[in-house]
Amino acid sequence: PAMLGILGGGQLGRMFAVAAKTMGYRVAVLDPDENAPAAAFADRHIRAPYNDPAALRELADSCAAVTTEFENVNADAMRELARRTRVSPSGDCVAVAQDRIAEKAWINKAGLPTAPYLAIESVEDIQVDLAPYLPGILKTARLGYDGKGQVRVQTAAEARAAYANLGGQACVLEKMLDLQLEVSAIVTRVSSAQSAVFPVAENIHKNGILDESIVPARIAPALAKQAQEMARKLAEALDYVGVLAVEFFVLADDSLVVNEIAPRPHNSGHYTLTACLTDQFQQQVRAMCGLLPGRTDLLSPVVMVNLLGDVWKDNGHEPNWDVLAEAPNAQLHLYGKKQARPGRKMGHFNVMATSADEALDQARALKDTL
Ligand code: ATP
Ligand code: MG
Ligand code: MG
Repeated sequence: PAMLGILGGGQLGRMFAVAAKTMGYRVAVLDPDENAPAAAFADRHIRAPYNDPAALRELADSCAAVTTEFENVNADAMRELARRTRVSPSGDCVAVAQDRIAEKAWINKAGLPTAPYLAIESVEDIQVDLAPYLPGILKTARLGYDGKGQVRVQTAAEARAAYANLGGQACVLEKMLDLQLEVSAIVTRVSSAQSAVFPVAENIHKNGILDESIVPARIAPALAKQAQEMARKLAEALDYVGVLAVEFFVLADDSLVVNEIAPRPHNSGHYTLTACLTDQFQQQVRAMCGLLPGRTDLLSPVVMVNLLGDVWKDNGHEPNWDVLAEAPNAQLHLYGKKQARPGRKMGHFNVMATSADEALDQARALKDTL
């Protein structure tokens, strides 16, 4: 069977590897970490830095197609791979998603709204009237995730001080919006004629990290449909091939604003592993191989709960998984990471019920007893 390659061996790479192997492919993973979660399911583990030229050549030459699982993969590495094998998403798309300035420009160019923002590439850029962006959030243009690299600012003086504090690196200053809730839509695009969008998830964050995804999102169906169409439109504008996650803010007036995108399967799509006809990792395999996207029908209302290292308690004891095992409508998914650390994503569980609210009640009750 053909070998599929993935840059990065974290939990997303692991779930990709399981899907690919189940679908009859072999898998090669490039990741420097000997204990990379994906390595356990890979036929080949190339242990090298992500941008190591020899390792990239080895990956490209052994694989019929290559994809990525982490956001900060070097876009040039993707372009390099593309000279030797089929690569999706493209280095260009990855580069857009990695830079909040380019990302927001593309979102607007596709005709979709973002929060009012100011691109700050050098200190002169922040000497303008900041009132339209305040109170706001200063975000580093690159390398931020899980709310890292973000400072909330009330005044222009605070914004300028925060910018200096971040060492003068490129940033965006974004107006703080009054959020009704947050949702995401994940689209799989193979071509203009072939794309599929998963049901919209409602996402609840804690300390800047995704905590729960509720599906279907508790918003009007017409609004959910709008989010799906916006995700599709963005993928089309980028000529994107692969799985693209789009995060949205729902404002008080029921309008949608695009927050950011991720060029890969997304934490808020883990519910698809148990509750959709095709899951997001199967879609990633399909898209990179140029196959039709699978159907995305929701089989049941579902809630996903992230399991961070915090749940492991101070004494390092495993949580009481029995309570999940004893719930016939719950599915535990652990990523095989050895060390639990606060904030580290160790696994998740999905709870299915007859309504999203019921699933949420049960999920929270289960989490409390872990
Ligand atoms: P991720 O882990 O999703 O990549 P990130 O570090 O890139 O996160 P963002 O998604 O930009 O961060 O922001 C994290 C969270 O902060 C958002 O989910 C939202 O709750 C809040 N937030 C960000 N920007 C705004 C805004 N303009 N107005 C209000 N809340 C915001
Ligand atoms: Mg982000
Ligand atoms: Mg985000």
